[in-house]
Amino acid sequence: MKVFLKSLLDLLLPSFCLACDTPLGPSPDLLFCPDCCERLHTIKSPLCPCCGRAYLVAPGGDHHCGICLANSRHFSRARALFLYEDPLKEVVHRFKYQGKTACLPSFAAFAKKLPQPAEMDGADWIVPVPLHPKRLRERGFNQALLLARAFFPKDRRIAANLLIRSRPTEPQTNFNGAARRTNLKNAFYVAKPHAVAEKKVLIVDDVFTTGTTVNECARVLKKAGATEVMVLTLARVKEDY
Ligand SMILES: [Zn+2]
Ligand SMILES: [Zn+2]
Repeated sequence: MKVFLKSLLDLLLPSFCLACDTPLGPSPDLLFCPDCCERLHTIKSPLCPCCGRAYLVAPGGDHHCGICLANSRHFSRARALFLYEDPLKEVVHRFKYQGKTACLPSFAAFAKKLPQPAEMDGADWIVPVPLHPKRLRERGFNQALLLARAFFPKDRRIAANLLIRSRPTEPQTNFNGAARRTNLKNAFYVAKPHAVAEKKVLIVDDVFTTGTTVNECARVLKKAGATEVMVLTLARVKEDY
């Protein structure tokens, strides 16, 4: 009966690749066609053990990048599943700005197969980067919370209300360098400092660009007493080499 229902569903609602709209076979595990799957660039060593920057051409092992050597990071390590480039970039855009959440089960399937979520062991709380309530109303969902649920299904450590965005901020993509930090000044606070005191926190976000946002979240969490803050994102912007 289950098989029959599945075939009926496939007939009524055929699946298409999220990135290029190619029709997919019946009941696909991933909503990416083989070509697009091939083009998804997962992040592996060698990388910066702190911020997770991938060294795409450099030989050798993991080593700290110049940015992490020169600046103090408030998180102990950040990891991402994929490089932020097409076809994933297009799918993330459709997810964030057009509400196309059909990608989430596929992201969950990738998270299950890739090592990064398991590398973030020992977290007491999983905290999605919060949206300001105004932005949340406009968008209808917090993409970071949906990703946290996809990466860690039914995980009771997910805490959506520990970290609060106290004022709306301009999108970080509008700024560079120091202006990114200024834009986020006093943008976050911890709602229940006693809950994070002496705890390890894992922050989840969609894309790691320069890391300013997650670094500011980590700073606020550490100030509230968190012993360690780690970061997991779906994707990481590819830097110039
Ligand atoms: Zn495709
Ligand atoms: Zn680094």
